[in-house]
Amino acid sequence: MRFNLLDYPADLIRLFYPRICGGCETALVKGEQHLCLHCRMELPFTTFDNIKDNPVERIFYGRVMLEFATSLLFFSKGTKVQHILHNIKYNERKELAIFLGHILAQRLQQNPYLKDVSVIIPVPLHPQKLHIRGYNQSALFAEGMQEVWNIPIQTNNLIRIAETVSQTKKSKIERWENVEQAFVLKNPAALKDKHILLLDDVLTTGATLEACASTILQATSCKVSVATIAFAMQ
Ligand SMILES: [Zn+2]
Repeated sequence: MRFNLLDYPADLIRLFYPRICGGCETALVKGEQHLCLHCRMELPFTTFDNIKDNPVERIFYGRVMLEFATSLLFFSKGTKVQHILHNIKYNERKELAIFLGHILAQRLQQNPYLKDVSVIIPVPLHPQKLHIRGYNQSALFAEGMQEVWNIPIQTNNLIRIAETVSQTKKSKIERWENVEQAFVLKNPAALKDKHILLLDDVLTTGATLEACASTILQATSCKVSVATIAFAMQ
């Protein structure tokens, strides 16, 4: 019988072939890391990095006052970006998240609107979900960013107190009500007068990030910006 990788569970394959592209699942060759050269070249950068009034910022207009907002990559269904994020979230490809955090930090650390950012807060998972999944993918992006940008990460202050059920079938208002009361800031004084960068994986309606930013801004006087790895244009 011929040996076919597809006959085996992904976890088992990775045990023996750990160097697989996170975008297309082909074996990586020498010199390639995390993504093959092809997938890396095809990453759909938004290039919103230094642009004020960009489409990501506009999502939040009239909802919450942000200093700046941007996303690294465009997201759409069936694309490699979706596959990469799925691998990070469900297949424990943690090193891929760190790698994307590096890229995001490289692009943001020179950003004039973010030059006084002094703390990164990844959007928290509900503790129960964190327990089940074992890790928060947004915290991994933050770790990658910190390795490049050297800005401290805070994961024990903004807490998710309510689990948000699947958002996809709800209206915009229902989604907002669903997340509005979902977060609490335990120690507002720790963020006083700081510029906080909120970090999440995918931006769709912005309801979760809006709720996080509002919770922080209502609790203390500070500035909040937002960065996400991917942006799903509505
Ligand atoms: Zn690839």
